[in-house]
Amino acid sequence: MTTQARTNGGGQAAFPADELRTRLRGPVLLPGEPGYDEARSVWNAMIDKRPAAIARCLGVADVTACVRFAAERDLPLSIKGGGHNIAGLAVCDGGLTLDMSLMRGVRVDPRARTAWAQAGCLLGDVDRETQLHGLAAVLGFVSNTGTAGLTLGGGFGYMTRRFGWTSDTVRSMEVVTAEGKIVRASADENPDLFWGLCGGGGNFGVVTAFEYELQPVGPEIAGGVIAWRGEDAPAVLDMFRDLMADAPPELNAAAVLRKAPPAPWLPPDVHGQPVIALAVLHSGPAEEGLRAVEAIKKFGAPAGDVLQKRPYVTQQAILDATQPKGRRYYWKSEYLPEVTADAAGAALEHWAKIPSPHGAVIFFPVDGGPAKLPEDHSAAGNRDADTVLNITASWDAASDDAKNVEWARAAWRDMRRFSTGGSYINFQTEDEGADRTRAAYGANWDRLVEIKSKWDPKNVFRVNKNVTPG
Ligand SMILES: Cc1cc2nc3c(=O)[nH]c(=O)nc-3n(C[C@H](O)[C@H](O)[C@H](O)COP(=O)(O)OP(=O)(O)OC[C@H]3O[C@@H](n4cnc5c(N)ncnc54)[C@H](O)[C@@H]3O)c2cc1C
Repeated sequence: MTTQARTNGGGQAAFPADELRTRLRGPVLLPGEPGYDEARSVWNAMIDKRPAAIARCLGVADVTACVRFAAERDLPLSIKGGGHNIAGLAVCDGGLTLDMSLMRGVRVDPRARTAWAQAGCLLGDVDRETQLHGLAAVLGFVSNTGTAGLTLGGGFGYMTRRFGWTSDTVRSMEVVTAEGKIVRASADENPDLFWGLCGGGGNFGVVTAFEYELQPVGPEIAGGVIAWRGEDAPAVLDMFRDLMADAPPELNAAAVLRKAPPAPWLPPDVHGQPVIALAVLHSGPAEEGLRAVEAIKKFGAPAGDVLQKRPYVTQQAILDATQPKGRRYYWKSEYLPEVTADAAGAALEHWAKIPSPHGAVIFFPVDGGPAKLPEDHSAAGNRDADTVLNITASWDAASDDAKNVEWARAAWRDMRRFSTGGSYINFQTEDEGADRTRAAYGANWDRLVEIKSKWDPKNVFRVNKNVTPG
């Protein structure tokens, strides 16, 4: 019997759910069924998509069955890792969403200093297992982000200055191709596919597991957050620019201009007031790290300071509360060749106009690590970037959409003049189209099209920042 499922168009269309169910070990959720709404929800509440069905995969066989099922019917197929993509690319209207969140296994090989992580892992899952051995993968700043989407887009975090993009530290991937075949991708096996997957997003297949190289880091490091009152922001930004110009690769600090959240480590009179904060990590031995951050701690009169010796895993989760699932978000981002005095000045101007308590202008340094490799090492490219600028509008009520989106757009229109011309594919919003995708890849674009044409000529994997086959 065929189960009826509502499509995006609002009408009734036959969705052969029973047939899909017979092919899978994991559950298939249809509109109206328990768990469907939770499974279709993503981090950004601006996204409200209704897949015809959501398959909660339990293993590679389920993934393979889903890819074949969607390809046979030319159904839109979206892949949900951590669901953190700002553009909502984890879900699709009227198609099949492949939910990887039940596949969160991690296996660490401490001798080889590698870890295999299944594609439903969040960053914190990998940190938790690797830190048992005093090892860490090069991951991002917020622990409940999905490893899959982050890694496939290139990926950066505190340790990028030292070790490169996250995708530079991937040794191999297990992939289900558009034909439903299982292949290994690495520098030696299917190297063209590997090149595309390292930065080219979900365009070439469903990755079911990643093999990460691990670095000896922690379990204790020097890290944390330190914040100054708004009036100190120009001086702190100058200090930040000087600091990062000379910082050893082990040290990284993201500068965040926003209003203070009601965090217990900040005095109540600062809550809701403009502040500048540095989120800092030194990935070397903790004592060396404490010496390296001494100058930051002594600068001016911080309003709050929890920059100290701490477990690495707490550092990785320290910003989580500022980015909760279910808020409304709209981002604009560019790679910068440096944070000039003019760029810092412009950031201060736009910070003063943030219309909500949660929005921010953020500078993430990424210089050094990626630049050790040539631009065409992998699809991720953008190795000339010094800093990621992220203009993050973030607010609660739908009635405030227009003013927050317009703030981010206006700030971006102004600050684009400082860009390298490249931008981070994983920070692009829903309304950034094909021209922005192409520009993000620069000179690597033509090779991406070649690889797409070989591995996914029918564009089975099109719910993403799409590389259209030639
Ligand atoms: C709060 C927050 C903090 C962030 N911090 C950082 C950061 O520090 N560094 C950084 O680099 N990025 C960061 N990002 C951006 C992040 O890398 C992207 O949002 C990324 O898409 C998240 O991955 P995900 O698995 O959660 O994505 P999802 O939304 O689940 O998926 C996004 C895209 O990835 C593809 N995809 C997912 N899983 C697979 C798979 N198994 N196989 C093939 N394709 C797949 C999907 O097709 C989809 O197009 C952050 C995002 C948020 C919301």
